[in-house]
Amino acid sequence: MSAIGILAVQGAFLEHEQILSRLGVPWFEIRQKRDLERPMGGLLLPGGESTVMGKLLRELELFSPLREAIQKGLPVFGTCAGLILLASRLQNGEPAHLATMEISARRNAYGRQLGSFHTEEEFRGIGKIPMTFIRAPIIEQVWGDAEILAEVDGKAVAARQGNQLATAFHPELTDSLAVHEYFLEMVSKAERI
Ligand code: GLN
Repeated sequence: MSAIGILAVQGAFLEHEQILSRLGVPWFEIRQKRDLERPMGGLLLPGGESTVMGKLLRELELFSPLREAIQKGLPVFGTCAGLILLASRLQNGEPAHLATMEISARRNAYGRQLGSFHTEEEFRGIGKIPMTFIRAPIIEQVWGDAEILAEVDGKAVAARQGNQLATAFHPELTDSLAVHEYFLEMVSKAERI
């Protein structure tokens, strides 16, 4: 499998690196435009602060090449702030970022006080998995080809659209490797086409 590029300009990218290493999958960090010259089988957008990440993506001139690569079918997995980067619409009138996924997201949907919690829920195609939420967004709407893969208390927290996968929670902070394996399956299918 070609290596997975992990956006490493801000946020919780280390945990994703550790999971991919545990799964024996090659990865590299994307910190500058030059890093995009490497062959990339898939892209991982970690949690962090989406406003800062969006700003850095633009300043570092990573924004357009990554957006184009996703639009051409590069498999992408966004967790938490990564989901916000992929959403086409943000609530409260905030400007969207990569906007490649037909979902709308509400940032900090659980409030800032009670922002972090842990639960277990069904994930379509996987089964029940642990989910850790940290000042997480929710998916308010999906349209087009996007579909909901998981819900917690009636709120959508994971979605997929073709080669794009997004979770409001942090699978890299739990002891389950299942969502990463699900993404890697998407990557290897895309490589076989
Ligand atoms: N609250 C953050 C944001 O809006 C996301 C939190 C996270 O990635 N853990 O960007």
